[in-house]
Amino acid sequence: MKININDNYRVVVYVDDPLFLGAKDQDGKNLMYLRDANKVRSNILRHVDGATDATIECDTTEICSHCGNAWEVNEDPNDKEWELGMPMCCEDAIKEFELASSD
Ligand SMILES: [Zn+2]
Repeated sequence: MKININDNYRVVVYVDDPLFLGAKDQDGKNLMYLRDANKVRSNILRHVDGATDATIECDTTEICSHCGNAWEVNEDPNDKEWELGMPMCCEDAIKEFELASSD
C-alpha cells in the first residue's frame, strides 16, 4: 500500500501578468518577474506575523537561443546519425555545437 507523507509545506504566491506590461523581451520580462517577486517577498516578511522567511521559486524551461524551441539533445551514444549531446532543434544550434566541439 502506498502512503503519502506531506512535508516541507510552503506558500507560493503567484503574481498577475499586468504588473509586467513594460517588459520588452523574455529576459527583461523575467528580470521584472524576479524584481516584483522580491517586492512581494519583502511585503510578506514585513506584514505577516510569524513569517520568518519567504522563498522565491520558479520553473525553468530549457529552450534554444536560436529557434526558441525546447532544448533537446541526442542522449543515445549508439546513434549513428546524431553525435552524443548534439542539439536536435535547428541548424544554427547544430553549427554552434560543432564549432564548440572542434575547439
Ligand atoms: Zn534551435
